[in-house]
Amino acid sequence: MQETEKIRVRFAPSPTGDPHVGVIRQALWTWLYAKKMDGQFILRIEDTDQTRYVEGAVERIQNSLKWLGIKWDEGPDIGGPYGPYFQSQRKHLYKDAAERLIEDGFAYRCFATPDELREMREKQQAAKLPPRYDGRYRNYPKIDAQKRAAAGESCVIRFAMPQEGSTSFSDLLRGEITFENKELDDFVILKSDGFPTYHLAHVVDDTAMKISHVTRGEEWIPSTPRHVQLFNALGYKIPTWVHAPVILGPDGGKLSKRHGAKFVLEYAEEGYLSDALFNFLAITGWALDDHTEIFSRKRLTEVFDLKDLSKNPSGFDQTKLEWMNGLYLREMEEDDLVSIFVQRLEHDLPAEIPRPINWALVKELTPLVRERIKLLSELSSLVGFFFTSDIPTPATEEFLTKKWKDRSGDASEALKFTANDLEPLIDWNAEDIQQTMRNTAEKLETRAGDFFSLTRIAVTGTRVSPPLFESMEIIGQELCINRIRRASNSLRNTTDS
Ligand code: GLU
Repeated sequence: MQETEKIRVRFAPSPTGDPHVGVIRQALWTWLYAKKMDGQFILRIEDTDQTRYVEGAVERIQNSLKWLGIKWDEGPDIGGPYGPYFQSQRKHLYKDAAERLIEDGFAYRCFATPDELREMREKQQAAKLPPRYDGRYRNYPKIDAQKRAAAGESCVIRFAMPQEGSTSFSDLLRGEITFENKELDDFVILKSDGFPTYHLAHVVDDTAMKISHVTRGEEWIPSTPRHVQLFNALGYKIPTWVHAPVILGPDGGKLSKRHGAKFVLEYAEEGYLSDALFNFLAITGWALDDHTEIFSRKRLTEVFDLKDLSKNPSGFDQTKLEWMNGLYLREMEEDDLVSIFVQRLEHDLPAEIPRPINWALVKELTPLVRERIKLLSELSSLVGFFFTSDIPTPATEEFLTKKWKDRSGDASEALKFTANDLEPLIDWNAEDIQQTMRNTAEKLETRAGDFFSLTRIAVTGTRVSPPLFESMEIIGQELCINRIRRASNSLRNTTDS
């Protein structure tokens, strides 16, 4: 590539399902490179395999990118100068290219039926030979082939791979790679349904769309000599190839669903922040140095370079992702966090809680929880008790642990004293609430911790909550006292029965 050439890179997913994190990481790196180089990022949908097409997948791909803040400069929904951006709408281009290759002697029609090909493979297997197309139509007279095709006979078009010599190409991460041509058979470029294979389609499109760098997964390396031959036969310029490493699961196999890997939109639903997942994916397989891990999108667009990607597969470190998410939550500007919390609570809190969610209340409780959560999905169970006047009375067993085991009468009494002591409090603030409750504990000769944990369950309904006294201040005096009395009564009834 010449220095002056414009950087144009693409993300070219096949709409075969929800995009998993490995695929999206590829898009993210490619996008970062476009931003860094002031180039263009193109989204192209490779939908030529009609049998694998999944309804809704294009939308899921686009939504995954949008959620991560990855915007494309040209694509199926917004168009652009090199459209259409769905391969299924570009069939004529592939047909023209395939016919040109036949004319120039680089390709030929093959009429072998599926049965014939199966038989061929079975024979090869029986003879312990690798299964490959045996070239049976390679020397078939062109004129006869044309007649049969014109008469409507089903056929595919195959590329005539050179049978001798070798094919080399350069990969940005790995340098020069060479394959022996005799290892490669005459592969299909146009199928009998008129759709191209990936091999032909991407060569035609990456050329037509003026793509400077083809970034894709390393599983394509063994096919690249075929692509080199195609580029050359069509007289096209070879792009820069960047074959990125895969992500591995904890058992060393390619990361998949069975490792608990999720689709990008599932991470969104589970409460990960887009910024955190973006940062995490960017550094899974790329590093600036041996210690920096936290990067904003902006910083990444300055320092990221494709050439610094790792050649080796990287592990998917779920613990690091969670840690990073917690860190982003803690570091976020308070107002941004409040609006993310409000959105999340709108979605997660039970339907009976009136909407819209009280913004001022969320603002009040945000400082109490921002240090405590790692995932947004934890939020509603942690703070739900702030939004309703009647929390369900916690089960007796919740109260009667540790010191209170088999002592429901004492627990009931302790709560009654608390309510009585809190009732006259004039200034309802965390500090005074705490002081009052410490005094009550002393009076009852109970350890403050045991006493507070009982009150926490009564007031919040859970054993794990935001800081107790601050929470009580927010909930308000009347409601707190009601909840404490209710808990006390229910514990007393337990003793009576
Ligand atoms: N459509 C191919 C796939 O989804 C993409 C390969 C490429 O980026 O060229 O695997």
